[in-house]
Amino acid sequence: MYSDMFCSAIIVAGGSGKRMGKPIAKQYLELCGEPIIKRTVDVFLNSGAIDEVILVVPEGDVDKCREIFDTADKIKITAGGKERYNSVYNGVTAVNDSCNIILIHDGVRPFVTESIINSSIGNAVKYGASIAAVKSKDTVKICDENGFVVSTPLRENVYSVQTPQTFKREIIEKSFEKAFESGVFGTDDATLAENAGYRVFITEGSYENIKITTPEDLIIGEKILESRMEA
Ligand code: C5P
Repeated sequence: MYSDMFCSAIIVAGGSGKRMGKPIAKQYLELCGEPIIKRTVDVFLNSGAIDEVILVVPEGDVDKCREIFDTADKIKITAGGKERYNSVYNGVTAVNDSCNIILIHDGVRPFVTESIINSSIGNAVKYGASIAAVKSKDTVKICDENGFVVSTPLRENVYSVQTPQTFKREIIEKSFEKAFESGVFGTDDATLAENAGYRVFITEGSYENIKITTPEDLIIGEKILESRMEA
């Protein structure tokens, strides 16, 4: 798509998936017979826009994942860290020297599409930082620590944020530098860029691009797959 750009996709799957309540981490659970993580990685491996995939997994799983993925030449497997941002940072430090664009994607979002990946890269090239998101279907309330509503943002300005979150390489690297200085990391990658003073553009995501987190997400995930197979 951008022949002059080298795009690295960091797929973070370094978590333990406690909220799923299963003995194995959620990224290895199967959806219609295939591990979630394999489904996610394959979308990026099959994308013409992606030059390399950096898969970040728990330290003890690196060898097992090398077996699952047969380490095709486009994929590098590396160890994650304690928090999600540690895993992302390990991925950022593992990209190819030629990399210009970094996409960060949750390993448990297997329904991302080629079209979202392409728009995300296009917007990062244009604006520096771009995150997939969908308009909130629900009204959102800001509450205080005692559980009382403080304010209600205008729903048309409220988005639910997904991944990929895509950045020019120097922007995410500088944002991490600032975050390590301040000790503030937030709960998604864009927060680092926002706190470092960069503008972040919203790329249209999809309501199907769900993060498989709790057991009911597995049921929804199977339904999404079935509907795609029928289509
Ligand atoms: O916990 P959460 O649902 O936010 O995780 C989102 C993604 O980040 C998952 O794919 C998970 O495996 C990954 N993660 C990670 N390293 C951690 C924690 C989460 O790579 N320490």
